[in-house]
Parts: sequence; C-alpha cells; structure tokens
Amino acid sequence: MPKHDQLEILRSMLDSLKSGNPDLKQMIGQMSQHRLETKRDAAISSEVIRRLRIQNKKLQHQILVLKDRLKEKTARTNNLATQISELIRLRNILSAALGSCSSCWGENQQCPDCSGNGSAGWRPVNKRLFNIHVLPIVVKLYGLKK
Ligand SMILES: [Zn+2]
Repeated sequence: MPKHDQLEILRSMLDSLKSGNPDLKQMIGQMSQHRLETKRDAAISSEVIRRLRIQNKKLQHQILVLKDRLKEKTARTNNLATQISELIRLRNILSAALGSCSSCWGENQQCPDCSGNGSAGWRPVNKRLFNIHVLPIVVKLYGLKK
C-alpha cells in the first residue's frame, strides 16, 4: 500500500476518533481490555509458577527426609534379621545338644513337629554339642569329676 494511502487511512481514523466514532471507540476499548487481560494472565502464570517452585522445593526436601528414614529403617531391619538368624542358630545348637524339639522345646501342644512332646531327650542327643554346651554345667552343678 502506498504511503499516501496509509496516511489517508490514519487521518480518517484520527478524524473518526475526533468525531467520536462509536465503532472505533469500541474496538480501541476491546484492544485495551485484551491487553489488560493478557497482562493479568501473565501475572497469574508467574504466580502459579512461583508457587509450584516453592512446592517443588518442599517436596524435594520431604523426599530427602524420607530417604534418610528409609535408610535408617532398612539398617535397623537388617540388624534385627542378623540378630534373629543368630538366635535361631543358637536355639538349634542348644536343642540338638538337649535332644529337644527346636521349634517349641516341648512347650506347645499344637507344635507340628512334636505335638508338645519335644522336651529334652525327645530325639537323639548330639553328643558333641552336649559335651560342649551342657556337660560342663552338669559337672559343675553336681560337683562331678571329669
Ligand atoms: Zn515342638
């Protein structure tokens, strides 16, 4: 479009403004409203992003705290599992030395292994383990000589 025509259009627009053309006033008003809405939307978006970043930081901190707790509980669980394994090993050694049921030592009538009959001597004694773990206290207790 030639510059001359563009100037004419601008002049006629200015004339319309001066004369109070309602269509042009309405269009300018809409453009102005649209600009305000765009600024408001951008401000809201910035606020939402700011809040999400804050929430993200809090969640990352919570994750770190939970990871530490999980490490502690896992270590405690592993320690308990080790202790239980050791207790089971000692229980089995002593029940073999006594010839008792390793599940209940004869104290559980519902025991699937011995039906409550598994007290000392219920099964063959492991003599090596008896001599290591039981005999010394019997000798000492009754003042016997080896
Ligand atoms: Zn038993």
